[in-house]
Amino acid sequence: MTYLAAVFPAPNQPIEFREYPEPELENGSALLKTLYSEVCGTDVHLHHGRLSGVPYPIIPGHVSVGVVSKLRGSPASVTGAPIREGDVVTFLDVNETCNSCYYCLIANQPTRCPSRKVYGITYSANDGLLGGWSQAIYMKPGVKMIHFPKNLSPETFIGGGCGLVTALHAVDMAGIRLGAAQVRSLPWTV
Ligand SMILES: [Zn+2]
Ligand SMILES: [Zn+2]
Repeated sequence: MTYLAAVFPAPNQPIEFREYPEPELENGSALLKTLYSEVCGTDVHLHHGRLSGVPYPIIPGHVSVGVVSKLRGSPASVTGAPIREGDVVTFLDVNETCNSCYYCLIANQPTRCPSRKVYGITYSANDGLLGGWSQAIYMKPGVKMIHFPKNLSPETFIGGGCGLVTALHAVDMAGIRLGAAQVRSLPWTV
């Protein structure tokens, strides 16, 4: 069994399709059959080589949805719920955070941990199916998988993509709450 993936071979080079063998599953890992994977502005930067420390070739795609097609051992979701074959999940692209640095422990921003690895960005395609622009995505042991709530469709989720969570995070950081902005009192509004 092999899987096709879209690959950025190097900055400013045309995208290539490459075939990858089915990964050997480590204990606690899973394989997703990809349903959706986002194309975002970061992918454009990656294509142009504007991010440092990117181990080209890479399989882009850092926000994705898939169906669990295989697993080994007992992987669990972020809530501790067992992951089963057939489950529809998404996952946190940031992985291998150290849980001992300033960003992990104090700033509560493990997405900035210097040890982090990121699906679709800082995992090399030479290390396997570690990006979403692929027919299958390998969930390494410890990847934070998330089940979809019953009332949320994968289509709706992927439509928001990482742009939505980034915007929400910015609002969070700004300390603005729902109803806090009294827009009508601003001098330039009518
Ligand atoms: Zn993105
Ligand atoms: Zn850390």
